[in-house]
Amino acid sequence: MSFNHQLVLHNNLSNQKERFEPIDAQRVRLYVCGMTVYDYCHIGHARVLIVFDVIYRYLCQIYGRKHVHYVRNVTDIDDKIIARANENGEPFEALTNRYIDLMHEDSEALGVIPPDEEPRATMHMAQIITMIEQLVEKGFAYAAENGDVYYAVEKFDNYGQLSGKDLADLQAGERVAVDESKQNPFDFVLWKAAKPDEPSWDSPWGKGRPGWHIECSAMSTHCMGDHFDIHGGGLDLQFPHHENEIAQSEAATGCKFVNYWIHNGFVRIDDEKMSKSLGNFFTIREVQEKYDPEVIRYFILTSHYRSPLNYSDTHLDNAKAALTTLYTALNGVECAAIKLSSEEPRVERFFKVMDDDFNTAEGLAVLFDVAHEINRLRDSDPKGASQAAGLLVSLGELLGLLQGDPLRFLQGEQGGSEEIEAMIAARNQARVDKNWAESDRLRDEFQAMGIVLEDGPDGTTWRKA
Ligand SMILES: [Zn+2]
Repeated sequence: MSFNHQLVLHNNLSNQKERFEPIDAQRVRLYVCGMTVYDYCHIGHARVLIVFDVIYRYLCQIYGRKHVHYVRNVTDIDDKIIARANENGEPFEALTNRYIDLMHEDSEALGVIPPDEEPRATMHMAQIITMIEQLVEKGFAYAAENGDVYYAVEKFDNYGQLSGKDLADLQAGERVAVDESKQNPFDFVLWKAAKPDEPSWDSPWGKGRPGWHIECSAMSTHCMGDHFDIHGGGLDLQFPHHENEIAQSEAATGCKFVNYWIHNGFVRIDDEKMSKSLGNFFTIREVQEKYDPEVIRYFILTSHYRSPLNYSDTHLDNAKAALTTLYTALNGVECAAIKLSSEEPRVERFFKVMDDDFNTAEGLAVLFDVAHEINRLRDSDPKGASQAAGLLVSLGELLGLLQGDPLRFLQGEQGGSEEIEAMIAARNQARVDKNWAESDRLRDEFQAMGIVLEDGPDGTTWRKA
């Protein structure tokens, strides 16, 4: 019997939880704003990658892998990219290609499944220009004297529907630099006229490049059609980026753009906002020097995706301890191949909590129940333990966890070390010989190496402390 999923998600368009009803259950469409590629991915990027990877995995579980279409774009041209490439004295493409490769490495390390499509702005200039032309034709955009093309926010009646902001309030409340080329200070750029020596593309308005917002409207429409199910990204993108995407797309196509908007919360570091200037800014690579990337992933899934996530070494240490518990349960138990059945009460519970706006924290709690069962059965009922291990790994897969070799996780890079195995043999021999001085000396040495020995009926195993 297949589980009757009742997926509910928090839609930021209505600002309430809603039952998820896809436009077409044969082709469920998810678009997420990806990286601007000019530097290493940081922990905030890791959160976007992982949160939407879990949402993608779960939609695949409900609708079937081939019925879910996931697109995550890459912004490979903008002011920061041009500035960094100039600083480095290299072509901007060399810079962006390098950081796209590094982003793929980070994603893979974090267990993130590649999206079905990963469109780049520079490869969609034709679609971007066409959409700007549509907006100009329909009177939603205008070419200014300086060669830029702007979106006229006052022409779009529903501006502010996603962020709950009202144009009149915005104009009264916020100080915006006066720009004489704009008709309204909140008009935003669709096409930027090229400055000398900048990378540029031909357009009906002369050489230039696109604004950031139009890229996502043009690429999502190109990959998914005018109207699709879910658009996601970090909370910082809700305004103005996503508000502007709605204004552009709905004005250009004349139909509704997206049914459900999902945003993940901010990452804070030791209860402070993460920023380069505060010096509390971590790239994924920096954190990986201390922690297995799976620990980062586990840590990110301990909070609900909408909540702010507070990063601290203590939280990472807790995540590491939790994963150690789960992998220790799996270690040395044969893992049965099982099919998830909702008649199994733990599977039903997992689906229920994940159906409720992707409650990964509660999903993790189910994994611990299964791990406890493995520990309870491992000596008395090896077959039952093996079934439970299969269940744990299958549920873990939906969160992108526990897919590695348990011993590799527990032993880290020193796994398979002949030196350690030789030391264990020497220590066991010393104990047989009642050479306590030598066995104590080896014990101290293991301790200094950060290694814990575990003596069991099948001999001595070890793991990292
Ligand atoms: Zn975007």
